[in-house]
Amino acid sequence: PAGASAGPEVTGLRQFIGGQWLNSSGGRTFEDLDPWNGKVVARVPAGDSHDARAAIEAAHAAFPGWTRTSPGVRQEIFLEAAEVLRRRRAEIMGLLAAETGCGHAFGSIQLDFVLSLLRQASGAGYAAVGQVIPSDEPDAFAMAVRHPVGVVAAIAPWNAALVLSCRAIAAPLVLGNTVVLKPSEESPWVGGLLWAEIFEEAGLPPGVLNVVTHARGEAGAIGQELVSHPWVRRINFTGSTATGRRLAEAAGRHLKRMVLELGGQNPLIILADADVDYAVNAAAYGSFLHQGQICMCARRIFVERPLAAEFLGRFAAKTAALPCGDPKDRGTVIGPLINDYALRTVARRVDEAVASGARVLAGGTAAGPCYPATLIVDVPAETELARHETFGPVVIADVVESAEEALAQANDSRYGLTAGVLTGDPERGLALANRLEAGIVHVNDQPIHDEPQMPFGGVKDSGWGRFGVTFAMEEFTEMRWVTLAGG
Ligand code: ADP
Repeated sequence: PAGASAGPEVTGLRQFIGGQWLNSSGGRTFEDLDPWNGKVVARVPAGDSHDARAAIEAAHAAFPGWTRTSPGVRQEIFLEAAEVLRRRRAEIMGLLAAETGCGHAFGSIQLDFVLSLLRQASGAGYAAVGQVIPSDEPDAFAMAVRHPVGVVAAIAPWNAALVLSCRAIAAPLVLGNTVVLKPSEESPWVGGLLWAEIFEEAGLPPGVLNVVTHARGEAGAIGQELVSHPWVRRINFTGSTATGRRLAEAAGRHLKRMVLELGGQNPLIILADADVDYAVNAAAYGSFLHQGQICMCARRIFVERPLAAEFLGRFAAKTAALPCGDPKDRGTVIGPLINDYALRTVARRVDEAVASGARVLAGGTAAGPCYPATLIVDVPAETELARHETFGPVVIADVVESAEEALAQANDSRYGLTAGVLTGDPERGLALANRLEAGIVHVNDQPIHDEPQMPFGGVKDSGWGRFGVTFAMEEFTEMRWVTLAGG
């Protein structure tokens, strides 16, 4: 890869600023670790606010040129980037596994998604259409014209590292903005520098995309620079609600708009007329894909009483049988959690719930770097597990007496990202979809889905704004009212 200089033992990566591959300004590095075996995947620059500022300056300098490229030129670059990605597919799958503990199934989903996203987004420059508006001034000609916003900062997480970093840069770039991408310290390569490699090879001009990396616990200084620098006009952030809230508070002081994709406590409602085999499989996939480290995962299952005993018995058996292990083995379903801190947080919350009276029906004890798929019932409402998104393979089940009770409990949450409703009656399902407080609802399916063309985003504490190729137009362009006065 372009950014990598193969050292004697481990790959050394560099940041990408103004089209150059650079060490951090302070010369420090950190180790990017494989969460399964602790091996060093790469040595990565530990950037700081100076690097962030250099990246902002490069993006600012590149903006006038990039914004005047034709939509056709941008389309060519995006299609070429998709081609580079397609060629490197096997290697990127390996990198996803090594850097983020991502198994084969979710790795394939991520690769397919980003290929589709790059191809769909490629033509979005042509979709930035404006309007001609009737004016009250005689003979005046009034228009609303879409313009790119300028420099966009993109702050991406590690969990669906490839998808979420691509989504953070694709619409902004193709709509004529320039970008500073700050990946997570847990996925600086596959969720960050990889895009610099791919887009450089695809012919993106220098400075249009810049990637700044940092060591663990050092995001704050770069975040502060991105939020406060006057040349950064918009920020998109995907991550935890706590970090998103902090950044939004700071952005508010600088009157900067953000797109915020935050956590969820997503319900899966299973009504008594649902097919139980289908429900068990949907619940397992929706709760445990990528060991529950997806913002869309089902965190709470509400099952109507007539189906409850059969569903819970079979779902517990299925959950207990999901194999944990090395994500590089095809047979593994549950790979390692991203780091020790994540493992300890999940274990602490489950243990606290159990100490408060909850019952574990499957899983419930860490095994090496993995936490097994866990099904837990009778979780008191005041526990951390019940109240907060817990980023791991743990799902809470509750028995409800009616669809109304399921709806009330599902909506009794600070979050509102996704939801699933399983029922044999599609009209009932749609009626519930209309009353669920969520940005995304799937009737007769589990809550994990993403397609590049869909309006992806949440309500309440799950965030603001929408990704999705055409919907992101509102986030990453600005309407300008232009008039030509009458003669
Ligand atoms: P998680 O706890 O799941 O890692 P975070 O919200 O901490 O979620 O991480 C999402 C992204 O936010 C990552 O890129 C992380 O480095 C970044 N981040 C964390 N703290 C800050 C901060 N103070 N300013 C800017 N970015 C931050």
